[in-house]
Amino acid sequence: MGVVVQKYGGTSVGSVEKIQNVARKIAGRYRETNRIVVVVSAMSGETDKLLKLAREMSKKPDPRELDVMVSTGEQVSVSLLAMALKDLGVPARSLLAHQIGIFTDNAFTRARIQTIELDMLKKVLENGEVAVVAGFQGMTDDKDITTLGRGGSDTSAVALAAVLKADVCEIYTDVDGVYTCDPNICENARRIDKISYDEMLELASLGAKVLQTRSVEFGKKYNVPILVKSSFTDEGGTLTTMEDEDMEKEVVSGITYDRNEARITLLGLQDRPGIAATVFTALAEENINVDMIIQNSSADGKSADLSFTVAKGDYEKANEILKKKACELGARDVVGDTSIAKLSIVGVGMRSHAGVAARMFEALSRVGINIIMISTSEIKISCAIDQKYLELGVRVLHETFEMDAPLTAEAGS
Ligand code: ADP
Ligand code: ASP
Ligand code: MG
Repeated sequence: MGVVVQKYGGTSVGSVEKIQNVARKIAGRYRETNRIVVVVSAMSGETDKLLKLAREMSKKPDPRELDVMVSTGEQVSVSLLAMALKDLGVPARSLLAHQIGIFTDNAFTRARIQTIELDMLKKVLENGEVAVVAGFQGMTDDKDITTLGRGGSDTSAVALAAVLKADVCEIYTDVDGVYTCDPNICENARRIDKISYDEMLELASLGAKVLQTRSVEFGKKYNVPILVKSSFTDEGGTLTTMEDEDMEKEVVSGITYDRNEARITLLGLQDRPGIAATVFTALAEENINVDMIIQNSSADGKSADLSFTVAKGDYEKANEILKKKACELGARDVVGDTSIAKLSIVGVGMRSHAGVAARMFEALSRVGINIIMISTSEIKISCAIDQKYLELGVRVLHETFEMDAPLTAEAGS
């Protein structure tokens, strides 16, 4: 029988009682198979607490030292879960990334997994012990500790499932699956039974934090289906897997939003080759990622306005860089706006259905929402809008694309 790989997120191990609940679930599974690898996140709130502490110590904490510290949250939760399992009579062993040999590049705070050694894990499994692995962390070839970015335990789990050739990677969290929209925000959200890797990738990268984007990339690359389930009930679940014909029937599968972007506009730029390259090279050199981009040339072709969005955390820095460059670029002014939000619809059905963008824009206009920027891919459309209309936008799009959960007899009566 294959190896079972499960991951429990911070909210599922947020207290002693919750860890005991998880231990009971694992013990139940252990009665069916003793080849179990469990990846665990830090107890909820712990990573935030550690990051806050670092910021109290230093305005710009050194990334290497930050990773040494922030990875400790998972060290606590794996040991607690292993203790709880042993108390239930289930042999278990906590394992940190460096003990297993989860190697990453050296991009501290957002490292990428490169290889995973299997010797230690195999030994633990052959002993009949549950391997309780600290998520989120890795190590470089130089034995430095790294972390995989916020939400990175999902990626640890899917990567382990890939190397262990598990049939599926089970992700246990505080919701019973992936919904058409964040169920904690949108009360009519409907659970999706099955979703393609590409759709899940878009949803995750556009703001649905239920799975870390990189975990879905791993799943897609190594064809590991990812099953999102609740750690508190046995009902429900969403399987992220390869696209099939059924998935195309839905025009739009999900809606996401992101409040974490800000817009910068360079006004009156010279309209000549090399200007955009100069702007975005200057930002890339400072590791600033750019998302939506719009450029408009004037009718006489002499000048252009260039707008783009960056993460809010990078806004001040990006502004500063571009204000310094404004003269060289011939820009009349650099202006910004931090009150925008990005609202997106995602669905593989867009490939085969025409007029989806028009329906989205019409729905937003019906409730008076102005679209500030637009960006598209084959399976998504994103609009930047004023942040204060975000909830309204989510609601109207959910309705327009008929994603509301069907009324139950009770709710309808
Ligand atoms: P964990 O601690 O288990 O890793 P996360 O907080 O990272 O859990 O992810 C689960 C949360 O993701 C949910 O509580 C929910 O608010 C949020 N979420 C955002 N978008 C979606 C969505 N489309 N479907 C389900 N959950 C979503
Ligand atoms: N503990 C880390 C975080 O809060 C990793 C994770 O939860 O997946 O981002
Ligand atoms: Mg998470």
